[in-house]
Amino acid sequence: MKIYNFNAGPSILPKKVIKKSAQSVINYNQTGLSLLEISHRSDDFLNILDKTTDLVKRIMNLSDDYIILFLQGGATLQFSMIPYNLMKKRAAYLDTGIWAFNAIKEAENFGEVKVLFSSKKEKYTYISKNYKIPNEADYFHCTSNNTIIGTQMKTFPKTTIPIVCDMSSDIFSRELNFREFDLIYASAQKNISSSGMTIVIINKKIIGKIKRSIPSYLDYRIHMKNNRIFNTPNVFSIYTSMLTLEWIESKGGLSYLEQENEKKAKMLYEEIDRNHLFENKIDKEDRSNMNVTFFLKKKELEKKFNRIWKKENIIGLEGHRSIGGYRASIYNALPLKSVQFLIEIMREFERKI
Ligand SMILES: *Cc1c(COP(=O)(O)O)cnc(C)c1O
Repeated sequence: MKIYNFNAGPSILPKKVIKKSAQSVINYNQTGLSLLEISHRSDDFLNILDKTTDLVKRIMNLSDDYIILFLQGGATLQFSMIPYNLMKKRAAYLDTGIWAFNAIKEAENFGEVKVLFSSKKEKYTYISKNYKIPNEADYFHCTSNNTIIGTQMKTFPKTTIPIVCDMSSDIFSRELNFREFDLIYASAQKNISSSGMTIVIINKKIIGKIKRSIPSYLDYRIHMKNNRIFNTPNVFSIYTSMLTLEWIESKGGLSYLEQENEKKAKMLYEEIDRNHLFENKIDKEDRSNMNVTFFLKKKELEKKFNRIWKKENIIGLEGHRSIGGYRASIYNALPLKSVQFLIEIMREFERKI
């Protein structure tokens, strides 16, 4: 049965990746052992770790100045780990969505948070480009893609202070100059792998400037010193990431994916704008290419529309519980054909009403 998976996270992954990952759970690489049974100190796993690290660096075009960690606790734990490791006195944040807001709340435990811009009052429907990053802040934090409302930063500011970015929902979806960032983090369950693992990419030069004592697991230096396996990492999720990254490379890397993602998003936004039953509430220039949100202009049609798409084996189209409406998450692995199918359903609904 064909299923059209528009889940926001955990979300769709390439079929090939799922297949190989599943096989490895039965018999990893003809070892006679399940991937779940191998030691995280074995050569088998060390190979996986090194390969995954190399793939991240190659795909993002990062130098050896960067260290790649595969941590647990989700992007959510990074909301605290980042200020714990980087904030002496104050940091500057953009409040562009619910996740950004959550990051701010956590950072406030560690010092003064300067919120340079907030669109909370406007329900996060746009992202300002007019803010000034104070030089005396220890770092600047932003969220590249706001998963819940469906906005995306298309450009990033230039600044002399370290730039920290939560890329949980659009990492590996487009080409960026990743060397302009000093810390990038992304939980794996959106564009990479299973949940329970977060990729943290750190420019080594920003680490170790803090005097406070930090609990071991929360201290980036401890993970570096222990060659990225301070404790037992999420072996399964790291392995599956490796497969996804190999898939990304085989497709032609980020430039190819960016083109595809743009195509998919453009088609869907065009339909939302054209179809007189639907609307998108985001400023056009800030619309996300990963999470496309839309609403029925007449709320009373919701039940009818829901019946139709659910019957067609479309899943995960409900908007986030905090805003309602609809959200089509169209991550890397979602085929163009699935977007075309959704558009057909929207057109058919318009014809019937
Ligand atoms: C999903 C998401 C998070 C939270 O990730 P967890 O792994 O659940 O902690 C944080 N930030 C963004 C932008 C997200 O999309």
